Amino acid sequence: MKILVINCGSSSLKYQLFNMENEEVMAKGLVERIGLPGSILTHRYGEEKKVIEDEISDHERAIKLVLDAIVNPEYGVLSSMKEISAVGHRVVHAGEDFSGSVLLTEEVMKAIRKNSELAPLHNPPNIMGIEACQRLMPGVPQVAVFDTAFHQTMPPKAYLYGIPYEYYEKYKIRKYGFHGTSHKYVAQRAAALLGKPIEQCKIITCHLGNGASIAAVDGGKSVDTTMGFTPLEGLMMGTRSGDIDATVITFLMEKEGWTTEQVNNFVNKKSGVLGLSGVSSDFRDLETAAGQGNERAQIALDRFAYGVKKYIGAYAAVLDGVDAIVFTAGLGENSASMRESICSGLGYLGVKIDSEKNKIRGQEMDVSAVDAKTKVLVIPTNEELMIARDTYDIVKGKA
Ligand code: AMP
Repeated sequence: MKILVINCGSSSLKYQLFNMENEEVMAKGLVERIGLPGSILTHRYGEEKKVIEDEISDHERAIKLVLDAIVNPEYGVLSSMKEISAVGHRVVHAGEDFSGSVLLTEEVMKAIRKNSELAPLHNPPNIMGIEACQRLMPGVPQVAVFDTAFHQTMPPKAYLYGIPYEYYEKYKIRKYGFHGTSHKYVAQRAAALLGKPIEQCKIITCHLGNGASIAAVDGGKSVDTTMGFTPLEGLMMGTRSGDIDATVITFLMEKEGWTTEQVNNFVNKKSGVLGLSGVSSDFRDLETAAGQGNERAQIALDRFAYGVKKYIGAYAAVLDGVDAIVFTAGLGENSASMRESICSGLGYLGVKIDSEKNKIRGQEMDVSAVDAKTKVLVIPTNEELMIARDTYDIVKGKA
């Protein structure tokens, strides 16, 4: 069975085509600058790539070009679109409506549209991608895989904020958590590497990329996570402030005369390691600048590592122990110095990194010392494969 995985952003679209017989990626690619001048599709198949520059005015045009590329006689990988049995879509916010992936029906679409209020930047482009596929591939089953779903197992004591309960009832203000597909994938891989059923594992998963979050996973279920009502809460990130005293916001609004839009822009786009360092939101740039003696770049890196360490300590308490700490996403998979910095001083948890093993980048590896009680694992995330697997499980027998 061939499954197409689609991840739509506001002006970009990522895709991967899987052959589910062996979970091989047959083709993948990226459409950039949708609706903007200079739109471009980069289509990869095997070791080759084809770049198509065209006017891509909307998501439907983008998906049409992707489908054309997939069946192109020269650089395509299928002879007909009919070979695609199902499409799996990444959808960011399911609110409290779904705790797992679902087949897209009109009712599910209604729920996704309703939850756009909670993710105004993310759900609308996800919806555009789904609707475009429905028009271009009528009758092909479509599945939604939600970023929030994995965290729906959190108990109320973890997801409720300390504000009057009526606002939870009225507006559903609570912690939801994000990156769920990634946390779930690496937790499952970690259990496999530990050689234990996931039901018996206590795992702390650290998804450290441009967006960053940590989850406490008990017996395969998320019991707490750092991101909240939106992906702003928790760790300081590339450009997001992370946890902040809410009155800093009202103080700044009064002092600077900012609107809600300006303040949202400030905490989401201008803060984080970018704001603190004044150098970059990219951790590679920060490591380079710090290496050249830039003190603010070093402070930003130290503050980031400190935040991750604090949450690891908190989640070890939440889980009443920990079998493995997992590092994933751009920074977690690639930066040996960041992993080392986070794990230094976690000896009381039985964490001990082997500096030689820790030199690896972007590959699955146990980087802990042989006598370490708690494993430190580097596991490249694979959200697309997870979406393809969920889609396959839902449609098999139906397609
Ligand atoms: P992601 O959002 O998962 O794509 O991760 C992006 C982040 O990972 C960026 O801040 C990158 O600077 C960081 N990153 C990627 N490769 C490295 C590396 N080799 N060393 C340090 N940071 C890296």
